[in-house]
Amino acid sequence: MSEMAEKVLVVEDEADILTGLEVALGREGYQVTTAQDGEEGLKKAAETAPDVIILDVMLPGMDGYEVCSALRERGIRTPVIMLTAKTAEDDRVRGLDTGADDYVVKPFSMRELIARVRAVWRRRAEKEARIHQFSFGNVKVDFDRQTVSKKGKTIALSSYETWVLRLLVSMRGEAVSRQTILARVWGYDFAADTRTIDNHVVQLRQKIEDDPHHPKHILTAHGKGYKFVQ
Ligand code: CA
Repeated sequence: MSEMAEKVLVVEDEADILTGLEVALGREGYQVTTAQDGEEGLKKAAETAPDVIILDVMLPGMDGYEVCSALRERGIRTPVIMLTAKTAEDDRVRGLDTGADDYVVKPFSMRELIARVRAVWRRRAEKEARIHQFSFGNVKVDFDRQTVSKKGKTIALSSYETWVLRLLVSMRGEAVSRQTILARVWGYDFAADTRTIDNHVVQLRQKIEDDPHHPKHILTAHGKGYKFVQ
C-alpha cells in the first residue's frame, strides 16, 4: 500500500466494530489508525493528520460530540462522520451542530460507511474543482489560465503552483498538512517529498505576497503544514 494512502482515523470503543472497520477500510486501500476513547482520538487526530475521522458518539469519558467540538475548537477541520445508535432527530442535529459532516446510524453496513467516506472526499474534490478564479487583497488568481494578477502585472504560475494554491484556497482558514498536499497534488506516484512542497510555497509567496518573508496569505501552520487566509 502506498505510504500516502488516504488516512482514516476510527474512534470507537466496541472492539468488534473497530476491527470490522479497520479490516474493511484497509481492504479499500485506506490507511487506518484507531483509537478506543475520545481523549486518544483527539491525540491521534492531532498526531496523524487523518483525511477523514469516523467518530462513534457513545464513548467512555468524552463522548463523540465533545470530541468533535474539541477538534473544531483546535482548528482541526478534518471531515467527521459520526456513528450513532440514536435515530432521534435531536441527536443528528446535535452531531451536525458540533461540526460533524455526516452521520451513519448503527447498525450500518460496511458498504454504506465506505460510500460515505468516499462521498466526503468527492465533495471536497468538487468544491476544489469549482474554483476558477479567486481574489484577495490586491491579487487575482485565474486557476484556469494559471496566472496571478497583482498591481496590474500578470505572472504565470506553474501547474504545481496552481494546484497547491487551489487546494489551499479551497480549504482556506484550515491548516493543510504537507502529507495531504502531497497526496492531493502529486497523487500517489510521485518522486516528491515534503521539501518539494516547501519550495513551491516559497515560489507562490514570491508571486502573491507583498512581502514574501512576512506572508499574509499563505501562512505556515507550525507543526501542521500551510494555511491560506484571505
Ligand atoms: Ca461506542
